[in-house]
Amino acid sequence: MAQFEEIKKVSIVIPVYNEEESLPVLLSRTIAACRQLTQPFEIVLIDDGSTDNSAKLLTEAAEQPENCVVAVLLNRNYGQHSAIMAGFNQVCGDLIITLDADLQNPPEEIPRLVLKAEEGYDVVGTVRSNRQDSWFRKSASKVINMMIQSATGKSMGDYGCMLRAYRRHIIEAMLHCHERSTFIPILANTFARKTVEIPVLHAEREFGDSKYSLMKLVNLMFDLITCLTTTPLRMLSVVGSFIALFGFLLALVLILMRLILGPEWAAEGVFTLFALLFMFVGAQFVGMGLLGEYIGRIYTDVRARPRYFVQKVIGAQAADVDEDQENK
Ligand code: UDP
Ligand code: MG
Repeated sequence: MAQFEEIKKVSIVIPVYNEEESLPVLLSRTIAACRQLTQPFEIVLIDDGSTDNSAKLLTEAAEQPENCVVAVLLNRNYGQHSAIMAGFNQVCGDLIITLDADLQNPPEEIPRLVLKAEEGYDVVGTVRSNRQDSWFRKSASKVINMMIQSATGKSMGDYGCMLRAYRRHIIEAMLHCHERSTFIPILANTFARKTVEIPVLHAEREFGDSKYSLMKLVNLMFDLITCLTTTPLRMLSVVGSFIALFGFLLALVLILMRLILGPEWAAEGVFTLFALLFMFVGAQFVGMGLLGEYIGRIYTDVRARPRYFVQKVIGAQAADVDEDQENK
């Protein structure tokens, strides 16, 4: 296997949405943590259309060159994952670390992530060792973790923790994906060869409230599932086949009972109607499932994820690789 490239620069990407109270502490703690690194660093903060003072604070921080801060201001709110993507477009480091602006992920963990990545990992994930979330969110996470493991083949103990490090080539692969709604940790896993997870501390939100309303959370869940798999569409055919089979078996039982017990049995054809109904409902589901299969394929084509991503070509002219990838 090719030797992993040395990490010459580290980029930190932080999406910010109405976090004016956290920002001063976030900036000072992140800058202090990054100064511990042996590599040069940059901190890219993306203002996701905040309505408070966040954009102003970011601009001020970026205007002081000793901070190594880059501020990216979006014109309106696009959501956490789109904001992070906007940040990815801006970074120039070889290792890119994402984290939340609300200080739930301690910036002090950054040097540990860099050290781990240097061991030759494409993606370094984190697991919140002392999770501070509600029981409901914890159990929802468990179910989704299982789905992620079966769909991507790579384990992800904690998909909700955004404190993660990605190598440059993973970011480039993600920037080649054309889908609008995406879930970055899962997308990254589909391009990673070697991943690892380390436990990190997780703090309670100190300032402000979660920026996810119930509707936004539901939306995020759908982004996550559709980013991961088109299996729910296939489930329509599976459910439909079961309903149709049940209807068919019921019809068989009815015929048998009619032959054994005579015409006065079977509540004057009510059950027969049910059997017919189940068969037709089942057939409709199977039909929808078939449509689903086409829609799933159209969806996969429309989001145009690269079919493959070349990490490196050795012994050929580099220009050819770029051309190839543009054609995907
Ligand atoms: N965020 C964002 N745009 C949004 C919602 C959230 O950029 O529309 C940012 C937010 O500022 C924070 C991170 O995404 O840095 C995670 O948000 P939050 O802490 O509210 O999510 P939770 O921890 O409740 O899942
Ligand atoms: Mg949070």
